[in-house]
Amino acid sequence: MPGARKRCPPAAPSRTDHQVKTLEEYLKLAEVAHGHLCAGQVLGVRLAMLGMRTLGIEDPIKERKRIVTYVEIDRCVTDAVALVANCRLGKRSLKFFDWGKVAATFVDLSTGRGVRVAAKESSKQRAKDMFPEMDKDAGQQKAYAVLPDDELFDTAWCQVSVPPEDLPGFKGPRVVCAQCGEGINFKRELVVNGRTLCRSCAGEKYYRAEK
Ligand SMILES: [Zn+2]
Ligand SMILES: [Zn+2]
Repeated sequence: MPGARKRCPPAAPSRTDHQVKTLEEYLKLAEVAHGHLCAGQVLGVRLAMLGMRTLGIEDPIKERKRIVTYVEIDRCVTDAVALVANCRLGKRSLKFFDWGKVAATFVDLSTGRGVRVAAKESSKQRAKDMFPEMDKDAGQQKAYAVLPDDELFDTAWCQVSVPPEDLPGFKGPRVVCAQCGEGINFKRELVVNGRTLCRSCAGEKYYRAEK
């Protein structure tokens, strides 16, 4: 119900809301960044706002060095999560596990503690039932904007050990693949029978060269 939004207990009690962008402000930004407003944007903005609030992070832009986000799906929702948490693939602060699940884990690098927020399996139906007279996506958008956090999401504290080579700003030696000669960063090489190889030459191919 509007105005009845429940909140997860924040990590830090001295939280003030005035510096936090509102749902409406984030949705405007998400629409521009993603190219359209959709139910996924609303759900993703809500999901990441809950994650940030639970970690006690008021301003993800100011505190960008504090956050690494792991996403578990490459769909609309992911763009909104990355926007709110201010994490990007190109900054190495966004990590992708291709698990097909509407969930994200926000890691506070200052504590090593993370919070995983997952959309409840029931949330979609709950949203559909709320505005049955509306078009499906429009009804879901409206419902996702007003349903309380605990009807939309499961939230759990967790530990995530982010290896040093996965951290934004990691500086390490760059090695060259003994087979293809291409450079490999971030310790992604494999040693096979004493040879240092890139993942592709070691057999983890996602492409095949045309003959
Ligand atoms: Zn979309
Ligand atoms: Zn190679």
